[in-house]
Amino acid sequence: MQSELIERDRKVNWHPYTQMKTARHIPIIRGEGAYIFDANGKRYIDAVSSWWVTLHGHAHPYIAKKVAEQLNTLEQVIFAGFTHPVAIELSERLLNLLPDNQEKVFYTDNGSTAVEVALKMCIQYGHNQGVRKNKILAFKNGYHGDTFGAMSVSGRGLWTAPFGELLFDVLFIDAPTKENLSGTKSFIEKHASEIACFIYEPLVQGAGGMLMHEADDLSELMKFCRSKGILLIQDEIFVGFGRTGKLFAANHLSAQADIMCFSKGLTGGTMPLGITTSSQKIYDAFYSNDKTKALFHGHSFTASPLACAAALASMDLLLQEETQQNIQRICKQHQQFVNTLVKHPKIKNVRQQGTIFALEWKIEEDTSYFSDMHDILYPFFLQRGILMRPLGNIIYLVPPYCISQQDLEYIYFCILDALETL
Ligand SMILES: *Cc1c(COP(=O)(O)O)cnc(C)c1O
Repeated sequence: MQSELIERDRKVNWHPYTQMKTARHIPIIRGEGAYIFDANGKRYIDAVSSWWVTLHGHAHPYIAKKVAEQLNTLEQVIFAGFTHPVAIELSERLLNLLPDNQEKVFYTDNGSTAVEVALKMCIQYGHNQGVRKNKILAFKNGYHGDTFGAMSVSGRGLWTAPFGELLFDVLFIDAPTKENLSGTKSFIEKHASEIACFIYEPLVQGAGGMLMHEADDLSELMKFCRSKGILLIQDEIFVGFGRTGKLFAANHLSAQADIMCFSKGLTGGTMPLGITTSSQKIYDAFYSNDKTKALFHGHSFTASPLACAAALASMDLLLQEETQQNIQRICKQHQQFVNTLVKHPKIKNVRQQGTIFALEWKIEEDTSYFSDMHDILYPFFLQRGILMRPLGNIIYLVPPYCISQQDLEYIYFCILDALETL
């Protein structure tokens, strides 16, 4: 069955981020906990939470039950002119967990669109008040999604090159360090009057290579931007819902953003859903008798009741004592593993933030997403029953919280084996 599925897939499907000529796709038939199973019954540990979305494991029975109940009650309703109890409850409960300045929830259906909405909120925030600020500040090596706005504010590279001239005006700064902060501040100061907003991935720049910076440095940068009238968009699409060891990256920071973006782990990785939250100040700039001041954005599946039900179920699980203990256990295991690796001759850098672990393999060339090291490492781990997806020469782990201590130890063992033998 495996080879037949592969053949049928080749004939009809075009996969994301894939050079189709050289790629091969493994048919997965079912998932359970931290495992996925292919058509031959081979088991893989999902060490990357299927592109960083799965929080509580695959096919979780509690989430399945809640979604099934919702499916039998109300599967979908237009969210303009109508509302529904699941979206109300999800917004209430999410806002309760977020920094206290977050007051309103805007729904979309993926991370990129959550970012698009955030950018539109910031630009129209100025427009509605007769202020023209069109520049956006962002980190080099950032990633905020693949739609045009989100792509524009992401780091530029080979994958944005075909669209380069169509992307809008962004000022790129380095992620903060103690050393570069004062230089960055004077750069921002010079352009402050044109900058509408600053968008950033807090603490961990995921797709850019699991790059990490200090909470204190980011907080200082946020406070500086705020003092210059620059709105802050905190993209927690990857780091939200426990990945950094705390519920949100915001819980590590001493400054608050105006707008926050969520997706990925929001539904425990079961259904597509995006959320953009905002402070009262942002919301009030759209609140008017003037119809043209409304936020003109919406998707067919805005606030899908099924996805909202999944998000509520995932939140129940996330807040359970057992899940919180698992998160802390993963943090500790990662930490211990990092300590054993720091001086390894084949490693350029090893780092960790909460449940996120990353290891930069030393190579001749500069670190790169297109490094051939990927083509050696990826099959090495697959053969050993581990799904990892190195970003070039960077190996990383973003496991679902239900992963067992033994499975995590087995993954570490295989990483050490790779370091020994490759
Ligand atoms: C994945 C990601 C996005 C985009 O989300 P999609 O649902 O894939 O469109 C945006 N920002 C960050 C930080 C991400 O990791």
